[in-house]
Amino acid sequence: FLESEDAAQAEALPRAPVVTVMGHVDHGKTSLLDYIRRAKVASGEAGGITQHIGAYSVKTERGMVTFLDTPGHEAFTAMRARGTKATDVVILVVASDDGVMPQTREAIHHAKAAGVPMVVAINKIDKPDANPERVKQELVVEEVVPEEYGGDVPFVPVSAKTGQGIDDLLENVLLQAEILELTAAVEAPAKGLVIEARLDKGRGPVATVLVQSGTLKRGDAILAGASYGRVRAMLNENGKPVSEAGPSIPVEIQGLTEVPAAGDEVIAMQDERKAREIALFRQGKFRDVKLARQQAAKLESMFDNLGEGVQTLSLIVKTDVQGSQEALVQSLLKLSTDEVRVQVVHAAVGGVSESDVNLAIASNAVIIAFNVRADQSAKKLAEGNDIDLRYYNIIYDAIDDVRSAMSGMLAPEKREEVIGMVDIREVFTVSRIGNIAGCMVTDGIVRRDAQVRLLRNHVVQWTGSIDSLRRFKDDVKEVKSGFDCGITLKGNNDIQVGDQLEVFEVREIARTL
Ligand code: GDP
Repeated sequence: FLESEDAAQAEALPRAPVVTVMGHVDHGKTSLLDYIRRAKVASGEAGGITQHIGAYSVKTERGMVTFLDTPGHEAFTAMRARGTKATDVVILVVASDDGVMPQTREAIHHAKAAGVPMVVAINKIDKPDANPERVKQELVVEEVVPEEYGGDVPFVPVSAKTGQGIDDLLENVLLQAEILELTAAVEAPAKGLVIEARLDKGRGPVATVLVQSGTLKRGDAILAGASYGRVRAMLNENGKPVSEAGPSIPVEIQGLTEVPAAGDEVIAMQDERKAREIALFRQGKFRDVKLARQQAAKLESMFDNLGEGVQTLSLIVKTDVQGSQEALVQSLLKLSTDEVRVQVVHAAVGGVSESDVNLAIASNAVIIAFNVRADQSAKKLAEGNDIDLRYYNIIYDAIDDVRSAMSGMLAPEKREEVIGMVDIREVFTVSRIGNIAGCMVTDGIVRRDAQVRLLRNHVVQWTGSIDSLRRFKDDVKEVKSGFDCGITLKGNNDIQVGDQLEVFEVREIARTL
């Protein structure tokens, strides 16, 4: 990967800060972004017809500032969910007639978790009921302390309606940015992020890309997440064609084969074939493990070269329902520290499949399966490739494990161990007793006093214990693999032919991750 070597050698030069505006709904995020764009961008452009491309940059006396024009923390979180950092400074907008609200707190948590400095814009200062002092006091409670109270957060009263204080706000953003000493290579192949992307009827896949380092040129072969192509055309934020874009500059590009996702990493490559290969691999089109390994090695060396000395713990998260997926992914990402970055390379609802394991092999990821199980082929593939496949049924356990893995404190712990698998082949309904499962032990052993989990299509339906375990008419203590038995479950009659029982015991075992 010559490209990245070039990047390492190119001289790093100062670059403009990239800013995201966050805050509670109706506190004026959109108005502020609109005001700044109108006042600062359009003025320099004849005609001033600005089109929305998801990001824009403005010139001030102190220097350039680039705004991600997607207000709210959804975009910010989407980026972080992919382990990417798109923002250097957050402007936290708080309406002075309303004060700190739930989404204000959320925004603060997001900014703090990402370690991004904030500048507070106390907005709507033009209103008669504006109360900036109250906003300050409420923010101090949230541990956002203004400079005048000895904190490190600049507070700037502004009005997105009249424009009052906006210059002061930009100045403070640049002051915060100066402390960060932001630099990037310019004379190098581009690396950046997809800010937003869509399918245009006439132009095909169109993506707004924020260049983060190097220079993106028309004609470059690029890889964007699981998509690849060549930059056929490039427009700046005013819709004007440009032939190149340097660090912190947003451009809209055409020429990708597919629509990438917001937050996808963009890399210019010398070889379009290589870009295609990696893109196809990421689309899961390589089933072959050997090829997957080769690809993984390539990708790793590539990202090692591009990396910033931060270790990454990659995870694949599979869950039973959307709600648990979101909760788990969010909590896992919050574990990221300055030294170890937690990255969720893939998260989805459903059982663990072969393609999940292939992705784990490729990205050197641990698979977190929450209330779902791996199918037979996935299990085999994981075992054959030493993939760490972990089952959880309590979110906290998963988080706790990942946290200890990160700090390297892997003390032995009480942990459940699966001792057997049972197929339910028939269901008999007996009055007073309820449903009896006619079973075949397919793996390991089933013990009368073990615990069981009822699986339907690899998704956990129920967890509990066995009420009775019988062979023919006799109550027995255990039944081994290859034998039939009858099982009733304590307090659960919802069993169906085709269901499986996973039999487990709780033991003390050593942990590794
Ligand atoms: P967002 O939901 O945070 O993007 O908020 P908007 O930008 O949509 O603003 C919500 C409402 O507040 C709109 O009716 C704006 O016109 C109004 N608004 C925004 N900023 C100001 C301001 O500085 N002064 C006044 N008076 N109204 C404002």
